[in-house]
Amino acid sequence: MLFSEIAGQDDILSKNQEAIKEYLKKSIKDKNISHGYIFEGAKGIGKLNMAVFFAKSLLCRDFDKEPCNICSSCIKINSMNHPDLHIISSEDKSIKREAIDDLIVSVYQKPYESDRKIYIINNSEDMTMQAANTFLKTLEEPAGNTTIILLTQNCNLLIPTIVSRCQIIKFEKINNEQIINYIKNKFNLDLKTARLIAYYSQGVLYNAEKIATNQNDILKRREEIIKIFDRILIHDKNAIFEYETYFEDNKDKIDEITEILMIWLRDVYFKKHEIDDLIINIDFVDLLEKHAKSLERQKIDELIKYLQNVKYDMKSNVNYKLIIDNMLMLISG
Ligand SMILES: [Zn+2]
Repeated sequence: MLFSEIAGQDDILSKNQEAIKEYLKKSIKDKNISHGYIFEGAKGIGKLNMAVFFAKSLLCRDFDKEPCNICSSCIKINSMNHPDLHIISSEDKSIKREAIDDLIVSVYQKPYESDRKIYIINNSEDMTMQAANTFLKTLEEPAGNTTIILLTQNCNLLIPTIVSRCQIIKFEKINNEQIINYIKNKFNLDLKTARLIAYYSQGVLYNAEKIATNQNDILKRREEIIKIFDRILIHDKNAIFEYETYFEDNKDKIDEITEILMIWLRDVYFKKHEIDDLIINIDFVDLLEKHAKSLERQKIDELIKYLQNVKYDMKSNVNYKLIIDNMLMLISG
């Protein structure tokens, strides 16, 4: 991970993130810095970017409102090469005990060249219980000027004793208009495409950039999914078996697929109630009209509820084929 990859998001911070930035800078000015922080927010929303900015500000030798960007400390952080900034990420879906053990050892060592050491733990909800417990001890007896920043998508997944010892900072999503303007200009898109992408990004700039870079992928998948939905909806039972393979082949894309289906169902609902302004898939309006006629409101609600659970079921290791079969049966039923 290079700083340059995440630094580009600086120019489109949401109001919430601007406020977080101001708050963190003020805490440095007031010398009111906690030992532990939790940055909570969606994947790709900019938590790591903000944590690195905070670390840079804390370590800067000439901090005044902003990090100076020219001192040796700022330069080392910009090249992700500062001996007192440690970034720990999960591997194989869990943060290894060894990584935390290394952290403990280094916590009790003096900083190399600053008066402070900073630890950023990315995806901290992936810490094993053992790692989390070891880590908790560090938070209970903070040695010297150590600041630990835990990044997580959901702080309910962290053990409560850790949460209670940290300051929680919540990252809210960026509004759609900001994302639309940003990607429209950056990728030279027409308004319709920018709107579509912004909606699929769910308020996360990183997602929007990713989709915009591979826009044909998601637009192509959207068309596939809508057509599958249409075929199953007209009670083509054969299609169910045929599409099992499609879903098996795209297992790693299931989040995106359920998202596309949910947005489609939402559009069907809006079409049904003639709220055309809110429709996203405006280029498929004929099909929307057809589905709006054939789907009852209760059925739409039922399907959306099922799709919301798919994500959860996937995480709790419910049999994938079963999830998909039930979903397809529900659409056709
Ligand atoms: Zn500096």
